[in-house]
Amino acid sequence: MSHYRTFTAYDAVAYAQQFGGLADPASLVEAQEVGDGNLNLVFKIFDTQGVSRIIVKQALPYVRCVGESWPLTLDRARLEAQTLVEHYKHCPQHTVKIHHYDAELAVMVMEDLSSHRIWRGELISGVYYPQAASQLGEYLAQTLFHTSDFYLHPHEKKAQVARFINPEMCEITEDLFFNDPYQIHERNNYPAELEPEVAALRDDAQLKTAVAALKHRFFSHAEALLHGDIHSGSIFVADGSLKAIDAEFGYFGPVGFDVGTAIGNLLLNYCGLPGQLGIREAASGRDQRLADIVELWNTFAERFQWLAREKTRDAALAFPGYASEFLKKVWADAIGFAGTELIRRSVGLSHVADIDTIQDKEMKLSCLRHAIELGKALIVLAPRIDSADELVARVRQYG
Ligand code: ADP
Ligand code: MG
Ligand code: MG
Ligand code: MG
Repeated sequence: MSHYRTFTAYDAVAYAQQFGGLADPASLVEAQEVGDGNLNLVFKIFDTQGVSRIIVKQALPYVRCVGESWPLTLDRARLEAQTLVEHYKHCPQHTVKIHHYDAELAVMVMEDLSSHRIWRGELISGVYYPQAASQLGEYLAQTLFHTSDFYLHPHEKKAQVARFINPEMCEITEDLFFNDPYQIHERNNYPAELEPEVAALRDDAQLKTAVAALKHRFFSHAEALLHGDIHSGSIFVADGSLKAIDAEFGYFGPVGFDVGTAIGNLLLNYCGLPGQLGIREAASGRDQRLADIVELWNTFAERFQWLAREKTRDAALAFPGYASEFLKKVWADAIGFAGTELIRRSVGLSHVADIDTIQDKEMKLSCLRHAIELGKALIVLAPRIDSADELVARVRQYG
């Protein structure tokens, strides 16, 4: 029998008192539900001074933004907590700390990051965090290297792959990234003015072949324990600090998927900034975004290679030069996955505020068109874009 029940604010306070690991649990007195996501309840728990001290997050048995007609596994809370615990082991400086989780209640208690801001909002309003891109590169290198076959014993790796089987959440990604935008589907969500561009996606055989290859990699390449949803809305930033949250899509997949999701969201911001700030005012922010992408990739690749040199346990994989060969494949995958993120966020169910909140209708359409065209180009050209500088040159070609 499952003990699952949906928490009230009162339940959340009691739970935080019991499992928050605070020295003064009785000072916790009030909870406020702040979840702005599509899926879950998030409670901030306040003390008698009105200071938010700890977070309680609970999965609901359905998709919150759709309703009870779209049921969704509660096991995602276990997967989120376990992914974050695993990532924290390898990269505590850039992963939210999980204090406690309960699989039956689908609940976790975690570190309060109210001193931080969600990166997406900061990127949209033009607040620049100069270290964020390299810190994200560091997070990706540490978490992905240490959960890959470069580092784990083959028995341990296989046991971990089994522990992180996440079929229902993977299916959402499989549908939303790789199917919906390339077919007529009721979940798709785009303005009627874009019908010609969206119809062109459905009719592009070269594009659909490349998308099939990306989906096939997502299905079958258990390279490392991915965050699975590392967009700028799953990242908290503060001065000199960056923390990943919200890992309920965690599973063993292709390393390029996490890297590509991160790059894709920086590119979505690049596409949206002219609509947010005005064309001239957006220029420097856009340059920063491209510099961020180069910085993110360079940090990731250098750190991964360094870790591979110092810590690879498998004799064959430790052969000099192999790690850099592997990273070439990761790069090509990342460009392709970034392209699918641009398209699915413009045409599919779930949009990003970087473009969605643009007030001027014509400007918004133009930003959406830009994201779709850039996404298409990246998916098809991925195997021919050999470096981060080459990527920047290609992006500039598309406006
Ligand atoms: P979902 O899975 O529903 O998207 P998230 O984990 O992204 O939920 O959390 C939704 C929102 O709740 C975040 O955007 C943030 O505003 C708030 N939140 C989540 N985790 C924390 C945290 N550890 N500290 C402070 N606020 C948080
Ligand atoms: Mg979220
Ligand atoms: Mg389906
Ligand atoms: Mg989530």
